[in-house]
Amino acid sequence: MPHPVITPDDARLIAKILDRSDFDRWAARARSTGGCSQPIFLHGNVDHVHKVTGESLHHYTTDSEPDGALPVACKTRRATRCPACAEVYRADTYQLIRAGLTGGKGVPETVTKHPAAFVTLTAPSFGPVHAHRGRSGGRAERCHPRRDAVTCPHGVRMSCTAKHSADDSRLGAPLCPDCYDYSGSVLFNALAPELWRRYTLALRRYVVRAAGLTLKEFRESAVISFAKVAEYQRRGVVHFHAVIRLDGPDGPHSSPPSWATFTLLEDAVRHAASAVSVTTPESPEVPARSLTWGTQVDVKAITASGALTEQAVAGYIAKYATKAAECVGTLDRRVHENEDLAALPITPHARRLIAECLRLGDLEEFADLRLVQWAHMLGFRGHFSTKSRRYSTTLGALRQARIDFVRQQRPGWQPPDEQAAEITVLAEWRFAHQGLTRGEALVTAALTGRDVLIPPNSPSAE
Ligand SMILES: [Zn+2]
Ligand SMILES: [Zn+2]
Ligand SMILES: [Zn+2]
Repeated sequence: MPHPVITPDDARLIAKILDRSDFDRWAARARSTGGCSQPIFLHGNVDHVHKVTGESLHHYTTDSEPDGALPVACKTRRATRCPACAEVYRADTYQLIRAGLTGGKGVPETVTKHPAAFVTLTAPSFGPVHAHRGRSGGRAERCHPRRDAVTCPHGVRMSCTAKHSADDSRLGAPLCPDCYDYSGSVLFNALAPELWRRYTLALRRYVVRAAGLTLKEFRESAVISFAKVAEYQRRGVVHFHAVIRLDGPDGPHSSPPSWATFTLLEDAVRHAASAVSVTTPESPEVPARSLTWGTQVDVKAITASGALTEQAVAGYIAKYATKAAECVGTLDRRVHENEDLAALPITPHARRLIAECLRLGDLEEFADLRLVQWAHMLGFRGHFSTKSRRYSTTLGALRQARIDFVRQQRPGWQPPDEQAAEITVLAEWRFAHQGLTRGEALVTAALTGRDVLIPPNSPSAE
């Protein structure tokens, strides 16, 4: 991130904070939130009360804090909102995926011997879009060249011979927006979590059959563990990357049975991908349709030292955990039902995807998909990273370990050990406000060395 240009006005804002009589405490708090750009400030009290006598042993109130409130980190996973917290989330995700592949954090190292595949499941095509083709043999490839291209009913020739650069704003946009299947795109996003659920069931069915077992026998000998992340493609549909692993009956701690080979896993992954579908709701305006994965299913073996190493997979998956739909040119907040879409700072393609969510979301038959609420996510309301119970350590456990650590760093009152069992802790918190002023953000960036989003100048606010 480039360093912000410090203007004379900024220098005054910074000096005002450095001159605070409570600056040491102020600075300690900025550090304890890890350079969070959008800290949440809380008002509240914590009382340590003796269970029997009701005597107050210690009273803490945020009244004694700088500006009378205590900041806590926003903990977002979205880098556009808070780079520091998103980085923490990314690092946690990396550790989680890595532990599931190489061991560590409570997962035994023997897990490296279990067959594991890195799988990418894409969405089907909803119409040709402008694409960055990368290079083959040192030269950029053309976008969508078709010598015998047809002209669509809207007069657009279905061919594009441009060599788009990786940051071309046309990437992901349809060759003809009027031909593009916007309903299909947002319905795929809305139903992708269900398609994934059916996929995991079909995968297990295939493995059970290929191993020649009954379901009961399978359960006694193996379990399929997975971790997956959702990623938006430029065209605004999600696809999934997943680590799928064959374990023994007790997960990573037990050896997989002898029939559990990578070949069997790969067969199952491919077969299940082509076997599942999900039917969309039906309304008088929108006929029901069947949605499937795209034909492109990528399966690679994950090994300790081969072409696709454990480290590479963990890094790759973690990278996507902090990206949301904003990277395809949409909003990072909810869209209100009667908002003027034309006035929003989004790409024309994102605008049409959002408009389609609002249109379908209004139909009674589509109510369960909650398309209006998730319009800014282009219809997707699933989790960005999920894993089966036995994959590895959980994000929650990693977070708790860090919270405990931060707590120890915070000046606070600890009851003497012999009293701890007799004490009730009564805490009461209220939301005060969120975010930093420009001056606070500049000083926080300097203190923590993190990427802190610097709000624009707003003289009235400071
Ligand atoms: Zn934050
Ligand atoms: Zn193109
Ligand atoms: Zn057209």
